[in-house]
Amino acid sequence: MVEIQSIGIVGAGQMGNGIAHVAACAGFDVKLTDISQDALDRAVATIEKNLGRMVKKDRISETDAAAALARIDCSTDMATVGECQLIIEAATENVDLKYKIFESLSAVASEDAILATNTSSISITSIAAKATNPERVMGMHFMNPVPVMKLVELIRGLQTSDSTFEAVERAAQRMGKTTIVARDVPGFLVNRILMPYINEACQALYEGIGSVEDIDTGMKLGTNVPMGPFTLADFIGLDTCLAICEVLYNGLGDDKYAPSPLLRKYVEAGWLGRKSGRGFYDYSQG
Ligand code: NAD
Repeated sequence: MVEIQSIGIVGAGQMGNGIAHVAACAGFDVKLTDISQDALDRAVATIEKNLGRMVKKDRISETDAAAALARIDCSTDMATVGECQLIIEAATENVDLKYKIFESLSAVASEDAILATNTSSISITSIAAKATNPERVMGMHFMNPVPVMKLVELIRGLQTSDSTFEAVERAAQRMGKTTIVARDVPGFLVNRILMPYINEACQALYEGIGSVEDIDTGMKLGTNVPMGPFTLADFIGLDTCLAICEVLYNGLGDDKYAPSPLLRKYVEAGWLGRKSGRGFYDYSQG
């Protein structure tokens, strides 16, 4: 099996910059692309800041941090990822957008490139069907924040070949991640369980069962998790949470997955969580 040396990343938001960070630290050459130059600039600033933190904590030397940063190339031209052996798509959670990206990637990627998607919920089989080589497509679901969270969920589409799966598994392990395998069903494994929990917290707030703070404190101290559901939802992004809830609801056809009207309202207001400065909490003061 050919060892992967170069990784392209499509989408430089919260997840894309984190994946670029861990890939560069693991010694991969990284090409990062986004439609927005602003997103790329913010991604590089975030990676620089996070590497600086690691240096301060003695988790990486200053030389290695500088070398990792130097391994990341950015461009708004998606064709630049074409030469990479593994291309990970981490753009906005929208099914039509993902289909379009996989069609375009097929046109620029080399014949033997592997295409992975970081989608939180969308059918890998349907995304793979948009690619020229569907057997070389699979799900590689990182957790947020990528440099901190140890897990990568691996999802085969119906068409995924064993060699594709093994190459992606090895790349995830080289990035220091623990992998689990999930079936290609809406939300896969982690979000199938997590999103109904976050959605139920929204519904509890909507029904006035408790305040944001009480629900968060209740679940944090009552179930011994590091953050309550609203802190976590703000961290993930409420637009992403809503998109995943929609996929669960439409894909599983059960009313119990219907997104809470409150979650929908917050997204309509543009209150998307940390990334927009306001969600269930206010982050405008930093
Ligand atoms: P984000 O909103 O922070 O970033 C999305 C980025 O995609 C933006 O920078 C946007 O400019 C870019 N983009 C949009 N269209 C594009 C295109 N055509 N080509 C290139 N870039 C494009 O979102 P995120 O939180 O980083 O989520 C990205 C993906 O990762 C989604 O599929 C999401 O479901 C998944 N995911 C998110 C989390 C999380 O906690 N946020 C966790 C795991 C997986």
